[in-house]
Amino acid sequence: MVEILEKLLLLQERDQKLQAFHHEINGVPGEKAALQRELDAAQRTLENDKARATQIEIERKRLEVEADAKRAQIAKYQTQQLETRKNEEYSALKHEIERAQSDITSIEDRELELMQEFEDLKPVIAAADAKYTAEKNRVAALVKTADEKVGVLQGRAAELQVEREAVAAEVKAADEDLFELYEKLFRSKTGRAVVPLEGNHCSGCHMTVTPATLRDAKVGASVVSCEQCGRIIYNLPEYA
Ligand SMILES: [Zn+2]
Repeated sequence: MVEILEKLLLLQERDQKLQAFHHEINGVPGEKAALQRELDAAQRTLENDKARATQIEIERKRLEVEADAKRAQIAKYQTQQLETRKNEEYSALKHEIERAQSDITSIEDRELELMQEFEDLKPVIAAADAKYTAEKNRVAALVKTADEKVGVLQGRAAELQVEREAVAAEVKAADEDLFELYEKLFRSKTGRAVVPLEGNHCSGCHMTVTPATLRDAKVGASVVSCEQCGRIIYNLPEYA
């Protein structure tokens, strides 16, 4: 195999690793955002449950005030009843009192319903609170791990980048055009610029190469490209 091809393969191996590192690093913000969304959902559930409890309390107080007003009204009617001498007016007041009493009964029924709902909500809130706390701890731990992972990956990527630049410089010094071609192919062929032959197929595009190309690749005296996809191809010893 031509020496420069070995260097190209080494460069490609470094570039592929770098690409994998960057892919992992770039995936982390998305992972963290997904975790945050899970935490937000748990928080929202808790807040909604708490808001419902507050709403019930407000409604119960409002009903209490309403019932008190009705009771005061009844007391007023009763005083008026004592003062009146007209039978008609007495009956009318009696009717008003009965109506107010019926209203109070309805209000109290509603209050009981709300109290029951409030009691039922207590364990629901406790569970939502526990879940939120657990989620918070879980997410914090995972975010910490993710951040640490990024730190490690960035460190390794930086080291690898240095190694990569050294190999790249060697290739560029030996054959600048080839280096440019490699760079272009690496970008356009999703990280597979230099590929082995598989029998008489290019393993990049899986097309059959011409006999001349096959022969050149097997001789290994020069850098050979696939006529179909343009990738740099080489012959693996087991096929030689
Ligand atoms: Zn090809």
